[in-house]
Amino acid sequence: MSGAFLDTSIEYLKGVGPKRGELLKAEAGIRTFGDLLNYFPFRYVDRSVFHQISGIHSDMTHVQLKGKLFHIEETGAGKGKRLSAVLNDGSGELELVWFQGIKWIKPSLKSGEEYVVFGRPTLFKGRYNMAHPELEPLKGPRQVKAQMQPVYHSGEKLSNRGLNSKGFEKLQKALVPQIKGHIPEVFSNELMESLKLLRREDAYINIHMPQSAELLRRAQLTLKFEELFFIQLMLLTQKIAVTKKIKGFQFGTIGRYFNTFYSDHLPFALTNAQKRVIKEIRHDVGTGAHMNRLLQGDVGSGKTIVALLTMLMALDNGYQACLMAPTEILANQHYDGLRELLKDMPIQVKLLTGSSKTAERKVIHEELEDGSLHILIGTHALLEDKVQFKNLGMVVIDEQHRFGVEQRAKLWRKNSYPPHVLVMTATPIPRTLAMTLYGDLDVSVIDELPPGRKSVKTIHRNDSARLKVFGFMEEQIALGRQVYVVYPLIEESEKMDYKDLMDGYESISRKFPLPQYKVSIVHGRMKSEAKDYEMQQFVEGKSHIMVATTVIEVGVNVPNASVMVIESAEKFGLSQLHQLRGRVGRGADQSYCILMTGDKMTSDARLRMETMVKTNDGFEIAEVDLKLRGPGDIMGTQQSGILDLKIADLVKDGPLLQLARKVAMELLDKDPDLEHSSHHRMRHHLDRLRQRKVNWSRIS
Ligand code: ADP
Ligand code: MG
Repeated sequence: MSGAFLDTSIEYLKGVGPKRGELLKAEAGIRTFGDLLNYFPFRYVDRSVFHQISGIHSDMTHVQLKGKLFHIEETGAGKGKRLSAVLNDGSGELELVWFQGIKWIKPSLKSGEEYVVFGRPTLFKGRYNMAHPELEPLKGPRQVKAQMQPVYHSGEKLSNRGLNSKGFEKLQKALVPQIKGHIPEVFSNELMESLKLLRREDAYINIHMPQSAELLRRAQLTLKFEELFFIQLMLLTQKIAVTKKIKGFQFGTIGRYFNTFYSDHLPFALTNAQKRVIKEIRHDVGTGAHMNRLLQGDVGSGKTIVALLTMLMALDNGYQACLMAPTEILANQHYDGLRELLKDMPIQVKLLTGSSKTAERKVIHEELEDGSLHILIGTHALLEDKVQFKNLGMVVIDEQHRFGVEQRAKLWRKNSYPPHVLVMTATPIPRTLAMTLYGDLDVSVIDELPPGRKSVKTIHRNDSARLKVFGFMEEQIALGRQVYVVYPLIEESEKMDYKDLMDGYESISRKFPLPQYKVSIVHGRMKSEAKDYEMQQFVEGKSHIMVATTVIEVGVNVPNASVMVIESAEKFGLSQLHQLRGRVGRGADQSYCILMTGDKMTSDARLRMETMVKTNDGFEIAEVDLKLRGPGDIMGTQQSGILDLKIADLVKDGPLLQLARKVAMELLDKDPDLEHSSHHRMRHHLDRLRQRKVNWSRIS
């Protein structure tokens, strides 16, 4: 939005002035008229409905009541002064209380008279009361209230200066009637018509002062669509620009490495989803543009083989490749796995982690620089400045959400040309979130598990059923299987959690004694050699039970393990539970995941357990997770300013977001630079938005 009017400093609005102006800037980021106009209500209350006092319940944030006042009394003195009255509407009684402004309010209260009361009921000592309600005599000159009353966010400092929700409403009422003629359109007439958008002016009027429920609905739709659309337009134009500007290595040929491996050494037939993804990657790296691709695939969907084939494409064209994993255990596993797969091929693979010896490192550094080392696998150690490649052409990053943006950028700088980047994640990102977060990336999805995989049976058990669970573990071990028992480890309660873990280990060791059984344990306080030893015992099938904290969460592959017992499962988030469950079900046997919880659970925790029991589909789980936690908490996405949406909601407005993306894509297909005269408005608006500093850098 632009124009002198909307740029007017907020202090000049009637009812603001310098002091409140400062406060609005500091507390709500509102500097101008335009900012206030874009300070949207987060909710509306229907003022056409009167509730009954007897029907008040804890889910009601605001209620409108109608009744007679009694027992008006002032008590206390000084700061403890308080005015109260009892409202009776025939269905029940509710206490109204005031702590401030008593002087003004008291004279307007008359015992036995009828009033309309509006406010937030709060439960206090088992009874509802209402502090600082709005109140007016029923018989008086009752102002006609808009049916839908907006509710605005506020804060303590703002409220103390009269800028509570009601205060914001007043400011909007001072501003909104003046905006006529100052709100330029941003969409083409054609789009406004086809999408049935309101004129922006009308949208702003109705968002703050709804004239009807229907106009409010259309105003919300209009402004949400605008917000989502321009984010998509920004991401998509950026993607077009990057594709044009940044050249990537062109892998023109698929040669002997890829083909030989594919025809002679592939240990299984690829799933259709794997084939499709490899084609997508093959296409990317063949174009000469830089690839920046996100590969999503549920645990066990077979991302590793895709990573390998992708790296072979680089090798075929004379480039090196690297694979970076978030933990040493995982890096080791990738190293062993890839060495096994490549054992009959003339390809040099090495491992670099924090525990690599100095002498080893030296050799690796040399071989990387002279080009004799083809594939380097490792952890963050790969990011060290000393690690220089002769010609790094492909970077694969496993389990993306554990790496920060800067770390990824570091990999880029290892070359004059940025290597192609494939980021793999087993945490499915809900479509809506991916579209916004990674709207400038290409996304591939492996949405099919390898054949013959039996889906994991998930069971929720109460702690009191532990003996039965032990019995079940015994049966499975007798069948030759192995079992994980995982304990939560949460920073705040670390001490207690360790105690639980050790107690658990002890009771399991007692139940499964040597020499018949061997129980391993792995946790963060152990030395890494000890950890590796225990881990190795389990991997080699020498121990039957692995008791652990979540260190095993990511990637560990022991196909013979068929039972995952998760203790205090209510303490885990959904994506973590799903990751943990992914550790089993990797072999041919039926696998089980047992969620142990106590009786007492929050409703969110209960929903998490139910979701886990109900489905194995990572995307479905991710959707529930998004709903429960909101976009900000998922995988550290809060670092991205892109999720600070003003009016749209990624959870609720998924379909609208998809529409916005589709419309933006169609538009750019027809007119990539928005040169057509009917598109100029959109281009101007986009330019204005771009000027605001937003950190658009993603994976790159
Ligand atoms: P993730 O996507 O979790 O990294 P992995 O790449 O570790 O999955 O694969 C899980 C298991 O499935 C491995 O043991 C792997 O060898 C096997 N696998 C992968 N693709 C196939 C396939 N197409 N057919 C059969 N087994 C496969
Ligand atoms: Mg993996």
